[in-house]
Amino acid sequence: MDHKRKAIKMKCDCGGVFKESVEEIDGLETDVLKCFKCAFVTLTREQAKRLMKLRQMVDSIGKKRRVVRIGNTCGVTFPPILVHPGQQVDIRPISPNKYILTFGK
Ligand SMILES: [Zn+2]
Repeated sequence: MDHKRKAIKMKCDCGGVFKESVEEIDGLETDVLKCFKCAFVTLTREQAKRLMKLRQMVDSIGKKRRVVRIGNTCGVTFPPILVHPGQQVDIRPISPNKYILTFGK
């Protein structure tokens, strides 16, 4: 297999063609190649690497964290594998106790 995006044209054993898709694997949303004929899902090397990194991130953050006091305000800490100081974060409330955090570069 070469290093270009030709892998996308890979054919499934069923004769179908793999297309880029997003699937939930172990509760993690990840890019995959999916055969739209038989629904077989496979990962490119890069996609597998990204999923592995995602798993590492999940492991490092654990399931629950506590809100801590930081001066006159409150914060939630993250391990440095996930974020870095000065990184921009977009906070979108979706319910009174649920937020989506989207980190920039
Ligand atoms: Zn197939």
